[in-house]
Amino acid sequence: MQVHDSLVELMGDTPLVRLRKVTAGLRPQVLAKVEYFNPGGSVKDRIAVRMIDAAERSGLLRPGGTIVEPTSGNTGVGLAIVAQERGYRCVFVCPDKVAKDKLDVLRAYGAEVVVCPTAVPPDHPESYYSVSDRLAAEIPGAWKPNQYVNPDNPRSHYETTGPEIWRQTDGRITHFVAGIGTGGTISGAGRYLKEASGGRVKVIGADPEGSVYSGGSGRPYLVEGVGEDIWPETYDRTICDEVIAISDKESFTMTRRLAREEALLVGGSCGMAVAAALRVAADLEEDAAVDAVIVVLLPDGGRGYLSKIFNDDWMADYGFLTPATEEARVGEVL
Ligand code: PMP
Repeated sequence: MQVHDSLVELMGDTPLVRLRKVTAGLRPQVLAKVEYFNPGGSVKDRIAVRMIDAAERSGLLRPGGTIVEPTSGNTGVGLAIVAQERGYRCVFVCPDKVAKDKLDVLRAYGAEVVVCPTAVPPDHPESYYSVSDRLAAEIPGAWKPNQYVNPDNPRSHYETTGPEIWRQTDGRITHFVAGIGTGGTISGAGRYLKEASGGRVKVIGADPEGSVYSGGSGRPYLVEGVGEDIWPETYDRTICDEVIAISDKESFTMTRRLAREEALLVGGSCGMAVAAALRVAADLEEDAAVDAVIVVLLPDGGRGYLSKIFNDDWMADYGFLTPATEEARVGEVL
């Protein structure tokens, strides 16, 4: 019988899919690493299982323990799946800009969710960083994975995401493009790809306009899961050759195009990463473009964003959808 004993066994080994339409007119191949194929629906399954395995080995997490983590949703889902398999309780602390659908998903997996204001500085007692610290100290047997400092976060990408991409492209990858949140993906996979290629692979970060990685002050933006107002320890500043800032409008417009033109119903940080990848593709000189194999990582699926990015009224409220744009409104009969 072909049976898996647990969903945890199915984390990682996601497919690489060629983008065909949004790349029109561009010479390089652009390949998407589609992370919504993970059982929890996002790239974060990879770090969840790696961080929990390591905490069990070191004794930080013991049977019956509680996992407390500030997470915008995706890490929570990955942690909740592994926790369920192994009998841990989960308490997640989320900023209030996260879509309600995402919080409901965490609750559906049996996790407890605490919502905190986005519009306070990180050291404020009500920030989601501070609240998760307090809960981790107060709850007996609590362990905080702390994806922003935990070396097992980038390590999971060094050990899985990077090698998978190298294998799947037969070592022909020339550019790796990914959004930066904790920086775990780009630091871990990027480092692996640089080492495997002898430094040949260029690593390009994609970042929301306003975030610190691309020189911003940390001012708010709407795309979720990426960008920071602080520099987390999990981000290795030596890996990225370049960081490209992308506006919310461009991120969301590309996200909608991916659904309509590539049948990739993905999240806003995916549109952001693809927008950056297409800029990389467009900027390559003719001779470099011929052999270029650009891999762009798409962190999650789009179902958690139906009431935002895929909602015309929400888009219009922020001025992201105007009659003048070439994009037809979703649902409009042409
Ligand atoms: N996109 C989404 C939707 C995410 O949840 C995350 C994780 N915060 C990222 C991108 C960025 O990944 P990383 O934390 O590895 O930099």
